[in-house]
Amino acid sequence: MMRRPLALLLSLTLAFPVNAYDLPDLGDVAASELSPATERRIGEQIISQIRWRDAAYLDDPEIEDYINRIGHKLAAVSSNPGLDFDFFVVNDPTLNAFALPGGFIGVHTGLLLAAQTESEFASVLGHEIAHVTQRHIAQIVGKQSQSAMLMLASLLVAVLAARSNSDVSQAAIAAGQAGAIQSQLGYTRAFEREADRAGLETLENAGFDVRGMPGFFERLQRATRMYENNAPAYLRTHPLTTERIADMENRAASMRYRQVVDSPDFGYARAKLRANAGQPADAVKDMENQVAQAPGDAAAGYGLARALSRAGRLDEAAKRLDAVRAKTPPSPWLVTLEAEIRLARKDGAGAIRTLEGAVRDFPSNRSLVYSLADARILGGQPGAAVEGVRRTLDNRQGDSRLWALLSRGYAALGKRTAQHRAQAEVYLLRGSLPAAIEQLEIARKAGDGDFYELSAVDARLRELKQRLLEERKDREG
Ligand SMILES: [Zn+2]
Repeated sequence: MMRRPLALLLSLTLAFPVNAYDLPDLGDVAASELSPATERRIGEQIISQIRWRDAAYLDDPEIEDYINRIGHKLAAVSSNPGLDFDFFVVNDPTLNAFALPGGFIGVHTGLLLAAQTESEFASVLGHEIAHVTQRHIAQIVGKQSQSAMLMLASLLVAVLAARSNSDVSQAAIAAGQAGAIQSQLGYTRAFEREADRAGLETLENAGFDVRGMPGFFERLQRATRMYENNAPAYLRTHPLTTERIADMENRAASMRYRQVVDSPDFGYARAKLRANAGQPADAVKDMENQVAQAPGDAAAGYGLARALSRAGRLDEAAKRLDAVRAKTPPSPWLVTLEAEIRLARKDGAGAIRTLEGAVRDFPSNRSLVYSLADARILGGQPGAAVEGVRRTLDNRQGDSRLWALLSRGYAALGKRTAQHRAQAEVYLLRGSLPAAIEQLEIARKAGDGDFYELSAVDARLRELKQRLLEERKDREG
């Protein structure tokens, strides 16, 4: 049973420039059941490839935090609130979202920009969450042995590799070869309907406007027609049909009507995406048009200030941002931009002061902590950066962004042993064990570590080398 799919998989893989990707390592999965834990493990391997090796992954903690807030609000009232979910953003103008095994849900920037209300955006997340809570991926592969899961995982990696390479012919090869197993992987109509219905209920439970779902899906359907045969694999496997939309409309009509106001974050997240897109001069023009259309809109003003800052027009950016802040409730989005502008104007102390206040005002905001550490490193206070990051790491050991900031902070202090020791943790969390070991070797030889530090490096090195040995044994066995 295992041989043929593996051979197919190999031919599938060789066709792509997958050197930037590793195949998911499933270890002894073939011998076990496809449990939620296994699915999560496969998902973790795929997401680590996307997050740290796919150029299209949007490495923006502010926006990622926002979609996670919406996603977790929905997941908490879904039919299976105990499941783990992680949401991430892919820089891609097409209208798309997808669920990977294990509750990892990707959203294209194009989708966030196309949504006219937060409820519309939430409706797509609700649909994808339902694919996970209803265990559709497991059901598709469950009856066909673990090898199908391996194929699915590899196919996803391959499609992502082809896409991030932005080479159309490669993508075409990917789609063609994938076609052979497409039918096995595609969600069935029944699954789609189930995800629509469960998603709609989740949307209502979370307090969003349920009419956002049929409205948005109808616009998505119209947009999908434009892609025709060039539709990404996902859209071909998630066919939107008139019946599906009619079904959603009927159900939404029987639910309670609710006027829902979008959170300010929805506007800020979209404005940030627009302001950061394309050439700075074009972004300024785009945001100027937005402001002209809605002069009182805080998000549009924020977007214009951000675009001006990107274009190097810092005085105008600061003035525009001040005008927005005078008329709007405080928000971390505004603070972060203010700090960025201050840093660009060489006012490191001002940037740090601004962010220190914001961390106190918004203690649960994760991205402010990154911004503060970054400002302290750039603004000449690396010691304070290291101290703050270390405190935060106590509760967030698995946060590779924090470890990267810690490494940068030590580098700025000239502490090389500590710098490379922290960098080892970055690589480890980003799925590269050999690179982590290499960093610890460098840390050992750096020559500025004290006895305790070097003992800790040695202990970690022994641990990671043992882990590498076990992984290799697993792969051969
Ligand atoms: Zn679907």
